[in-house]
Amino acid sequence: AKKSSIYDIITYDDNLKLFLTNREIMLKDLNNALVNDEFIIFLQPKLDLRDKRIKSFEALLRWNNPKYLKRSPEEYITLAEESDLIVKIGDIVIEKTFEILKDYKNKNINIAINISPKQIIEQGFVNKLILAARKNEIEPSQISIEVTETILVETFDIVIEKIKSLKKAGFSIHLDDFGTGYSSLKYLKDLPIDVIKIDKQFIKDMSDDLKSEAIVKTMIQLTHELGLTVVAEGIENKQELEKLKILGCDYIQGYLISKPVIAKEALLKYNKTIKF
Ligand code: C2E
Ligand code: CA
Ligand code: CA
Ligand code: CA
Repeated sequence: AKKSSIYDIITYDDNLKLFLTNREIMLKDLNNALVNDEFIIFLQPKLDLRDKRIKSFEALLRWNNPKYLKRSPEEYITLAEESDLIVKIGDIVIEKTFEILKDYKNKNINIAINISPKQIIEQGFVNKLILAARKNEIEPSQISIEVTETILVETFDIVIEKIKSLKKAGFSIHLDDFGTGYSSLKYLKDLPIDVIKIDKQFIKDMSDDLKSEAIVKTMIQLTHELGLTVVAEGIENKQELEKLKILGCDYIQGYLISKPVIAKEALLKYNKTIKF
């Protein structure tokens, strides 16, 4: 990794004639990105291990700007979350994902979107999604809402209420990065969750760590005993795929199937069988 110097932290900005920190520059860039419509949606397929077909995808945000295109949204989403910009960015994700679904006439396709805590607790969030679905002539069942466990730590009651209304409106609820947060099995009991996503770190550790394998196995069993569906993310090689098949996992997602790519390219894989 490159050694950081003082110049990485403080950069001279010609326009502002000021010294700005990297954080301030990124905030300014984020605001410009909203004005200039620089955010785009990439899709990553999920593979159904039963019929080896792709029928669902996850929408992942990308910043179409040379400086940021290769960067993970994790880097700027955190900043956006601190500054409330996340609501505006989240609206763009919703808008663009719903447009993709509108243009894709097949109603059996499902796309999952990642939702931040600040978005979900926003007043009118559920109605916004319902109206957007109606406007774009798509069924709520075509949209999955991915939330992480951290969403449940703060403002618990309001989040529970929102998740219940989303579910009632017909959206599916996916619990992302399962096992990494302050997870409580209580959530699984109290919330109308449809899908659990096993975090990629467990998958990565599985190959050389029997404990991780036991954890993955147990998470899959637990999910099934609760009548839920389980997705494993971060599958990068055939050994991981074979292991998850044996453990009875329902869906897998990862570079082995496909990296996140532009929507048009990803959708070509819809309903295609994947051979290994
Ligand atoms: P996430 O929701 O857990 O998304 C999965 C991340 O794992 C994605 O990173 C994806 O590109 C990456 N990934 C998929 N398959 C593999 C694999 O086989 N190996 C490895 N090493 N990685 C894999 P990405 O796109 O950089 O996104 C990072 C995080 O940023 C996401 O984690 C999510 O928390 C957040 N994010 C992305 N898009 C959005 C969005 O539209 N809204 C919000 N609120 N957050 C988003
Ligand atoms: Ca996710
Ligand atoms: Ca995840
Ligand atoms: Ca994550």
